[in-house]
Amino acid sequence: MSKQLEGCSKIHVGNRIFDITEVTDGSMPDELGEVLFVLGKINLAPNQTLDCLADTLLHEVIHAIDYVYGATGTYLTEEQVVRVTGGLLTVLNDPRNTKFLDFLLKKRKKL
Ligand SMILES: [Zn+2]
Repeated sequence: MSKQLEGCSKIHVGNRIFDITEVTDGSMPDELGEVLFVLGKINLAPNQTLDCLADTLLHEVIHAIDYVYGATGTYLTEEQVVRVTGGLLTVLNDPRNTKFLDFLLKKRKKL
């Protein structure tokens, strides 16, 4: 497990659990990440910078969300996943959006 992931070894998406693994055996030479839906695995290429790793992991999680919640048999295109990933990372990391994040993640639960 990468130190950069700080113990983030799995993610729950609805009723599915995806194990997050940094693949160091050289089997992912051309990809930064992949999600194996049936196996419940998200594999990440090693040695990514922290910002790249965050982008890759969120990208694969959006694929997982699309898979878990997709009911029509059609899925988001790679271009759509890239757009949503970049946009979400920007909004979530923008310090001007702390009130939005508080509402989204914490304060709403107190209602
Ligand atoms: Zn993708």
